[in-house]
Amino acid sequence: MNSYNLFNILGLASIFTIIALAIVVAAKIEKTNQLQASVDKLKKSLEEMDEQAKLIVRTDIELNKIQEELDKKISSLYALQRLSRAVSTTLEETQIFMSVQRTNLEDIGFEKAAAFLWSNKEQRFRLCLNIGYEQEELNLIVSNLKSYTEYCLKLIKQAKAISSISLQDMTIKARINELFKVSYFVLSPILSKEGDNGFLFVGTDSTDTVLTEGDEELVTILANEIGQALENARLFDKTWLAQQELEKKVEERTKELSEALEQIKEVSKRKTDFISAVSHELRTPLTSIKGYASILLSEKLGQIPDAVKQRLDKINRHSDELTHLVNDLLDISRIESGKIIMKQEAQDLKEIIEVTTDLMSVQLKAKDIKLDVVLAQDAPRIEADRNQIERVFINLLGNAAKFTPEKGTITITTASTDGFVKIDVSDTGIGIPKEAQEAIFDEFYRVDNEINQQVKGTGLGLSLVKHIVEAHKGKIWVKSKPGEGTTFSFTFPKA
Ligand code: ADP
Repeated sequence: MNSYNLFNILGLASIFTIIALAIVVAAKIEKTNQLQASVDKLKKSLEEMDEQAKLIVRTDIELNKIQEELDKKISSLYALQRLSRAVSTTLEETQIFMSVQRTNLEDIGFEKAAAFLWSNKEQRFRLCLNIGYEQEELNLIVSNLKSYTEYCLKLIKQAKAISSISLQDMTIKARINELFKVSYFVLSPILSKEGDNGFLFVGTDSTDTVLTEGDEELVTILANEIGQALENARLFDKTWLAQQELEKKVEERTKELSEALEQIKEVSKRKTDFISAVSHELRTPLTSIKGYASILLSEKLGQIPDAVKQRLDKINRHSDELTHLVNDLLDISRIESGKIIMKQEAQDLKEIIEVTTDLMSVQLKAKDIKLDVVLAQDAPRIEADRNQIERVFINLLGNAAKFTPEKGTITITTASTDGFVKIDVSDTGIGIPKEAQEAIFDEFYRVDNEINQQVKGTGLGLSLVKHIVEAHKGKIWVKSKPGEGTTFSFTFPKA
């Protein structure tokens, strides 16, 4: 082989080598490019991951903050709830503020508080609550507050809370901070319809406290609770005062009434004594008049002409009637004054009814009046004074016979009630008008009717009956319908 061929062969080999090298380099470059792309992708992913990690950390911090705030809010709400309960169950102004004082306001996030109520009378704000201030600081606040009177009154009128976050006026905000020596504050009006209005201030000096709208809301709720409690306290005071006045009045009236009652008793006693004395004095001359009339009528002292006899008869009759009246009057006054003591003996009711109706038989027969007696099986005996219960029956049956027209009916019914026997005496007579039914038991009262105009009476019978029944601890009442009849009911204790 010649050198030319060798040269050619070497040249070709070099070319091939160069080509091969070029191919290899190209492949490498391609790979490098691919690697670079992968690295870029990875870098991007890493950056994204870093972003996400940062986001997660940020979110976690935020969440922690929210959780902290939530915890703070929950404990604030609990504190507020405790405070509300304490405030609303108190009915005295100083006690209401004492309840606030006793509550740990730091649970709500404030270590300082003060409340002022506007006294219309004194034209100044009076301090009602102090938490966290020394006396000297307090004196300063009270004296400096005077220059803010107008502003505070305006706030109360607007019924709106202000706080470090809601107050736009920086100057006022700074002044409040300075006045109360705090960094953050909430000031909410205390509104009470009945009592004095004012405001509640709460504040904190701690600079890491973050005041929220929720805090403002919380303090507003507390101020409202205080206002409501003050209103309740004032209403309670009013009611209590009214009750005291009423009690005083009732006491006075009771005293007056018992004095009046004493006077009535005294007058009544004097009346009874007077009637008793007069009746006594009347009885003696009456007995002599009747005695002399009887002697003259017997003609022992000489004959008397018929005309005189008739007059003497009249004197006799009238003095009998008068004696009867005087005796009834005397008995009424004696029962009233307790001088007649009722004998409490067991009496057979059936027997009493038989005896007294027997006494009435002539009168009943004369008017052809039917008598019905319906006796209860289980109430035969009563506790009574025999003479007096007979008088009761005689009076009631006498009236029934008097005021019942011919062919009428009188019914006696007995019934057993609790510890007593009830006796009804009913008639089918003229009846008693409604308006007279109470008065018939009064002394000398008689209804103005035809029978009373014709038949004499004293108007004492029913009064005596009532006195006798009541002296036995019984009761008497009447039911009547004019034109239909009357029922007198009375009770006597069972034997
Ligand atoms: P007096 O019978 O003497 O008038 P009372 O005291 O017994 O007095 O009665 C008072 C009045 O009550 C009578 O006048 C009469 O008007 C009325 N009254 C009493 N009982 C009856 C009766 N059963 N029916 C109608 N009126 C009667």
